[in-house]
Amino acid sequence: MPEITIDMAPAAAMDEVSMVREILRLKEEMNAVILAHYYQDSIIQDIADIRGDSYELSRRAREVDADVIVFAGVHFMAETAKILNPGKTVLLPDLNAGCSLAESAPAHLFRRFRAMHPDHLAVTYINCTAEVKALSDIICTSSSAEAILEKIPAEIPILFSPDKNLGAYVRGKTGRQMLLWQGVCTVHEQFSEELIRELRAQHPEAEVIAHPECEGAVLRQADFIGSTSALLQYVVDRPATRFIVATEAGIMHQMQKRAPEKEFIAAPPNNGCACNVCDYMKVNTLEKLYLCMRDRTPEIVVPEDMRLRALRPIERMLEMAQGDEEAARRVLAEIPLPWKDAAIGMDL
Ligand code: SF4
Repeated sequence: MPEITIDMAPAAAMDEVSMVREILRLKEEMNAVILAHYYQDSIIQDIADIRGDSYELSRRAREVDADVIVFAGVHFMAETAKILNPGKTVLLPDLNAGCSLAESAPAHLFRRFRAMHPDHLAVTYINCTAEVKALSDIICTSSSAEAILEKIPAEIPILFSPDKNLGAYVRGKTGRQMLLWQGVCTVHEQFSEELIRELRAQHPEAEVIAHPECEGAVLRQADFIGSTSALLQYVVDRPATRFIVATEAGIMHQMQKRAPEKEFIAAPPNNGCACNVCDYMKVNTLEKLYLCMRDRTPEIVVPEDMRLRALRPIERMLEMAQGDEEAARRVLAEIPLPWKDAAIGMDL
């Protein structure tokens, strides 16, 4: 590595190439691993050590043995990494990288929701705060939700939070009794069924693929519905050469890399834009990634008592998603039902 003389230069004075060089140098110096979600800018995905959706990144974050995890994603993802791997310093380029789903479910309202339905098991999408994870029984992701719900005995009623579209989708797939929190992903909610139908008429050979956070009307247009990773694998495996993609546009960078001979058309949202991007994810920039590594801040901090209460529901997800029926039985046996009144008064 050539000697770098720009350590203390203001980031604005650096070009992109210099910034990338500095990020790579800092990564070595601080013994860091960069994790990037598929919805990050292409350049951030390209310099990351590990790319993935929420499920893959959670799984991989637990295994990191470097000293520092630099998490290019949104806040709840970096927080999950800290919960799973507390001995590591976890940095997030911008603490304002939030998520409409996490914001839709504040802990005090979620606690009340649980208290109103004490006999229900709370299966909660990973897109939520550490407080809400701590108040949940089992966390899930869009990759793992269906597999987890199918391992829960049919007579146990379920509270599914916070994404009502994902909840309705898995309720339809599994036929489970589920009460849904009414949160939405403001990105996936915006896809227009009508514009997708028009696009499909222009490209009748194209397959429509969609993320289950989309509304039901959009999902009914889809030839395939799956998590971000499942959509990526699908376009690689299928013989089709053209796809209309109804999820955050960042994933198309990986699709194009993995299947360069194929064409990917962004499904249009109903706001007049040609594609749909998550403004929360895009709060992170290459410059902020560099600055957070240079200054080792902002750092994710989770109080230890909260971390421990949030940890078990996440571990249950990993155990239930990866394990067999026996593993699921063991996990369910340790969850008290009806939900204990004492837990309602937890000091969060
Ligand atoms: S795409 Fe939707 S679910 Fe994902 S971070 Fe953005 S707002 Fe949250």
